[in-house]
Amino acid sequence: MKYWGYLVAKLLAGLGILAGLLVVMRWLLPAPQAYVTYNELNPIGHDLTHTVAYFVYFLICTGVVALIFMDQKYRCRTCARKLMMPVMRGSWDSMLRLGRPHTEYICPYGHGTLKVPELQITGKEPIDWAEHQDMWKELEELHSGKR
Ligand SMILES: [Zn+2]
Repeated sequence: MKYWGYLVAKLLAGLGILAGLLVVMRWLLPAPQAYVTYNELNPIGHDLTHTVAYFVYFLICTGVVALIFMDQKYRCRTCARKLMMPVMRGSWDSMLRLGRPHTEYICPYGHGTLKVPELQITGKEPIDWAEHQDMWKELEELHSGKR
């Protein structure tokens, strides 16, 4: 739940920043001189300065949303902290013996492991999140000799 809440908070913050940028951009853009008599006419598509400015604004919006989702991909699904310590697993040379190459990231608080495949043979491979069990419980079982 914290993971999705953090994503929504980032999207709302990005929306606020982009709305502020839109207000500043509209304030800075001069009114199109050729269409002063046509107040109802939308300057986008009719005035080059406005069209280019809105196109660049659209690219900035797309980049901000892409950055938000790229950042969210490498966050812990439990605590929403940034995943750390990337480890290369598998091998390009001997895939059958050591497995397919992938990178594993872990949560600094031990909530889980994210497995990101490096090899995309049959299209885009989904990333795999594996939640860890409670490590204290596991240690208690080892200590008491149940294992
Ligand atoms: Zn975590």
